[in-house]
Amino acid sequence: MHNKTLTELSALLQSRQISATELAKHFLDRISKSDLNAFLHVDEALTLQQATEAEGRLASGQATPLTGIPIAHKDIFVTRGWRSTAGSKMLADYISPFDATVVERFNAAGTVTLGKLNCDEFAMGSSNENSHFGPVKNPWDKAAIPGGSSGGSAAAIAARLAPAATATDTGGSIRQPAALCGVTGIKPTYGRVSRFGMIAFASSLDQGGPMAQTAQDCAFLLNAMAGFDERDSTSLDRPAEDFGRDLNQSLQGLKIGVPREYFGEGLAADVEQAIRAALKEYEKLGATLVDVSLPKTALSIPTYYVIAPAEASSNLSRFDGVRYGHRAKEYKDLADMYCKTRAEGFGEEVKRRILVGAYVLSHGYYDAYYLQAQRIRRLIANDFQQAFKQCDVIMGPVAPTVAWDLGDKADDPVANYLADIFTLSTSLAGLPGMSIPCGFGQGEKNGKRPVGLQIIGNYFNEAKLLNVAHQYQQATDWHRQEPPHA
Ligand code: GLN
Repeated sequence: MHNKTLTELSALLQSRQISATELAKHFLDRISKSDLNAFLHVDEALTLQQATEAEGRLASGQATPLTGIPIAHKDIFVTRGWRSTAGSKMLADYISPFDATVVERFNAAGTVTLGKLNCDEFAMGSSNENSHFGPVKNPWDKAAIPGGSSGGSAAAIAARLAPAATATDTGGSIRQPAALCGVTGIKPTYGRVSRFGMIAFASSLDQGGPMAQTAQDCAFLLNAMAGFDERDSTSLDRPAEDFGRDLNQSLQGLKIGVPREYFGEGLAADVEQAIRAALKEYEKLGATLVDVSLPKTALSIPTYYVIAPAEASSNLSRFDGVRYGHRAKEYKDLADMYCKTRAEGFGEEVKRRILVGAYVLSHGYYDAYYLQAQRIRRLIANDFQQAFKQCDVIMGPVAPTVAWDLGDKADDPVANYLADIFTLSTSLAGLPGMSIPCGFGQGEKNGKRPVGLQIIGNYFNEAKLLNVAHQYQQATDWHRQEPPHA
């Protein structure tokens, strides 16, 4: 049952061949036996209550295609009644009085919440090792990281602990863990999915999106997730779309841009081989490859690591021990309370970024760093517009290597930042991007580790990306392979 896709499970629920309660219990049982540390909070009673409600809707004919579908939420989305920690000690016991818009929309569609998923603290990281609650293990090889920051989401889908999950992407956090765990994920155009109730990291970059086994499943999930929200000032007010409308379109004549900067030095041979094989498969499906250039790719790392920390330092100033979250037990006065609370509540990486952010925004450095980074951000976005004059979508690797070993880069922030080289520029430009499984590389020691193909589209082209991904998934079965561990 757990190997079935969301689309298959939906059909079984609608035809009443399984009940929402049976399905929820099946996944809860798998979660309870798992040692991957993907889940931070499960609450059987809450889950089963939603399952019962879903059964009522299915019986009365008021169901949507998602009614009764078990889903797990990245712990960046606040959920009423569940803990919402953002992977931080700062929010370790925090229970939100309201639901994030994304959660509200899924609840309204009738999904059944299985629990909250582990992630890097405040979504800062590429390996999930920055979580206060410990790292997540990769279901393909427990010695490996699952990627980050949505490591719990990707591991849960790969290990078949949930058929659907939410995730967020600020600089790659949907695409990179999806790639490293061998699942499908899409980061929509910035502004498609409401950020209301999504615990903020870098507001001009943060974007929610779904993860599942297939592109078709992601289309169903995005249909529920996306849409205008007046409570998010950067939410896009556009007519509702069916993101699955083009799934079955032929790829005959599709022009795929292959950026030469994505295939240079630093790309591991096993990853390159899998990506090139995927591009060949696309040629068989009728597409043609076009050589394109994204010349500012290398600048995306310094640009992102100025802008994201700047916004983070501002966003995280709200965690002061006064309103909610952790407060130091002993302190002399108010200033001391702030200092001790923040010193105790935040982890290393979060503190590093607050320091960098405060520095680049400070008087005298603002022009030299922050403003300069904003200018380069525009040039990066312009690169993509040049490229899209020659092609319909862009393809390349999601990450330069397969998943590395837990602990390998834990003490080296820059090594972690370099792993984001192929995902950051899409985020800086606000473009939609996705990752689909396209093969395996060799792990550093044992076992095979997945490779993800990145598909980048122009603004609002999610339906096109999902079509391009779905056609590949009709012709190959990388996305259906089950990892050895759960
Ligand atoms: N790895 C990047 C970072 O550490 C991206 C994280 C994300 O997308 N949330 O900031």
